[in-house]
Amino acid sequence: MLYPFSPQADLHVHTVASGHAYSTLGEIVQEAARKGLKMVGMTDHGPGLPGGPHPYHFAALRFVPEYLHGVRVLRGIEANILGIGQLDLEDVLLDRLDLVMAGFHEDCGFDERGRDENTRAVLALMDNPKVKVIAHPGNPNFPLDYRAVVEKGAATGTALEINNSSFFISRRGSDGNCREIIRLCAELGAPVTVGSDAHIAQGVGEFDDALGALAAAGIKWEQVVNRTLESALTFLGLPA
Ligand SMILES: [Zn+2]
Ligand SMILES: [Zn+2]
Repeated sequence: MLYPFSPQADLHVHTVASGHAYSTLGEIVQEAARKGLKMVGMTDHGPGLPGGPHPYHFAALRFVPEYLHGVRVLRGIEANILGIGQLDLEDVLLDRLDLVMAGFHEDCGFDERGRDENTRAVLALMDNPKVKVIAHPGNPNFPLDYRAVVEKGAATGTALEINNSSFFISRRGSDGNCREIIRLCAELGAPVTVGSDAHIAQGVGEFDDALGALAAAGIKWEQVVNRTLESALTFLGLPA
């Protein structure tokens, strides 16, 4: 089974500002418009990732218009988890953003902590109302107590991202973990986002593997918070 629609919003896209991605915001948004997307979340990596942008990148996002080529652009971040409830950008800058995702990445100072400490770090961030999405929680390099995390998502309204790239190009070994997370989201009703995690314009809006896994597990379309422009804005608490 597949859904009859594709999400209108891609909430996870990297520009050249990430330091290891290959398209400008303009190129990404043009490609998004061509594919019929209505929203793109510009979620460059946080400053803690080697080669990542300086905090000034996030401070200056006010220069980015709300709409480019008819596509709503979210000023966002894929922040790095640095400790229990701790991210790599200060609150005064996080507060200005439309979309804060939090995720584990190697070489940011939180490697090899083990499942219990990883889980504590994520659960603490899910209590932070600024953090709307946990990025690629199925990463096998950062094991988690998936039931605890999905239960927390259902309780706090923090979404778990089902990352399309995790199924074929990034974070090898994610597949089974992602399917377990999806199964728990179906059981417990936690909100879900689908993201391309594109690092080049051509990847924006590519969701097929993630959508196939969600549909196979019986996730309701209404559970996918980025299914429409309006549902994504509502989820993020942004005005239409
Ligand atoms: Zn990246
Ligand atoms: Zn990531």
